[in-house]
Amino acid sequence: MELQSPPLPPRGDFRELLRRGVSPLDWNTWLKSLRDRQEGNTLHIDAPSDFHRRWVSSRLIDCVEEAARAAFGPDISVELGLYHDADPTPAPTPSGVANHAPAHSFVVAPALPAPVYDLEARLVPRYTFDNFVVGQSNRFACAAAMAVGEQVGSQYNPLFIYGPAGLGKTHLLHAVGHQRREIAPASVIRYVSSEQFLNEFINGIRRKQTAEFQDRYRKVDVLLVDDVQFLEGKEQILQEFFHTFNSLYAMGKQLVISADRTPKGLSTIEDRLRSRFEWGLITDIQPPEVETRLAILRKNAEHASRPVPEDVLRFIAERVLDNVRELEGALTRVTAYASVNNERINLELAQEVLQYLTDGECRQITPGLVMDRVAARYGLPLVDLTGPSRKQPLAAKRQIAMYLCRELTNLSLPKIGAAFGGRDHTTVIHAVDRVKSQMQSDKAVLDEVTGLCKDLRTS
Ligand code: ADP
Ligand code: MG
Repeated sequence: MELQSPPLPPRGDFRELLRRGVSPLDWNTWLKSLRDRQEGNTLHIDAPSDFHRRWVSSRLIDCVEEAARAAFGPDISVELGLYHDADPTPAPTPSGVANHAPAHSFVVAPALPAPVYDLEARLVPRYTFDNFVVGQSNRFACAAAMAVGEQVGSQYNPLFIYGPAGLGKTHLLHAVGHQRREIAPASVIRYVSSEQFLNEFINGIRRKQTAEFQDRYRKVDVLLVDDVQFLEGKEQILQEFFHTFNSLYAMGKQLVISADRTPKGLSTIEDRLRSRFEWGLITDIQPPEVETRLAILRKNAEHASRPVPEDVLRFIAERVLDNVRELEGALTRVTAYASVNNERINLELAQEVLQYLTDGECRQITPGLVMDRVAARYGLPLVDLTGPSRKQPLAAKRQIAMYLCRELTNLSLPKIGAAFGGRDHTTVIHAVDRVKSQMQSDKAVLDEVTGLCKDLRTS
């Protein structure tokens, strides 16, 4: 399962291994300023702030653990903590190279750049308008979202976007957030899935901190609430949402809401809230027509490791009809297969890899089923997949299971996270990205994922 990238730096050079394993941006922003200290089998890694620690913990922990194992051996476990400015700090060197610093200390970065808001706002970086392909099916939704992104206090309030899974609703919500951020950097933006909204509310009640919860949501300038159908029938949270809505609306703040159906279709949501959903602009988003599917594939293919001929793109576009996520998944599978087998991509190869597309009906796949199969395949206790341990190889198998859920079910990221023991949606994004990139470079991973996929679809 491990990536084999020759030649490795000498064992023990944790910092160098870590730097090599991440992008320069991640390194400079998040990792360079960490400090590490080994005690027995534990590597203590301290961050300058709690926010920083949480970021590393949710986004980069796998890279940190991988480097730690490569440097100190497979038994090392990583503990994330905090350091304070009063702690002894190695002097920063002008070049950023820790020549004279103690062996296991990081040089403190002079200043942290500030992608801080992105975590607070919870925006996925790639979900921007630039990356959104516009076609007949989503033109109106996209134009409305852009108008809202551009204009403070627009008349499209709330903007309500509805449509079935996998058509870009979440993408558009995030894009509005990014756009607002760009034109008004000081504005407070918050993306929240309805599950998260509910969970935070419940936690607020449990900890007797409902005022804090209310404050958090009533202080925003743009609130992006995803998949509100999830709140159907949940009286108390609907009440709370109603008050949040009113309070934001009265202050001229922007709301963008998504659901899998129209406000009228949300039958168990009481009239007073439902009618508010209808105050602004309601727009649907439809399955993309073939030209749009092709355009989306072309855009995706720009980032592929080898050229994808037009007839292959067309083959995929003609077979995956109504879910953009599946469209992207099919292309990924073809490019991954070609890349690990070192073959050129052509129609024949695509037909072979995507045989399942022409094989007819497939079964209903649930996270439970995926976990079951993954646990059985690797001989893991089922509970470990939802448990807290991040030890290897369990963590890697859990990531594969998350990837399969994303590929084979229509569940949202938070729902998948919830199914895996209440993990955050960012953890799922990270897992999916990671498995995708491993599939491109490691034949063993690709074969395993493909095998599991086939198994799940067909037996
Ligand atoms: P939904 O929220 O409607 O279920 P998502 O926003 O999660 O759908 O979209 C699923 C995937 O498809 C995402 O990776 C998203 O970036 C991509 N996607 C959907 N529509 C488009 C589009 N028009 N252009 C580019 N990518 C798209
Ligand atoms: Mg969504």
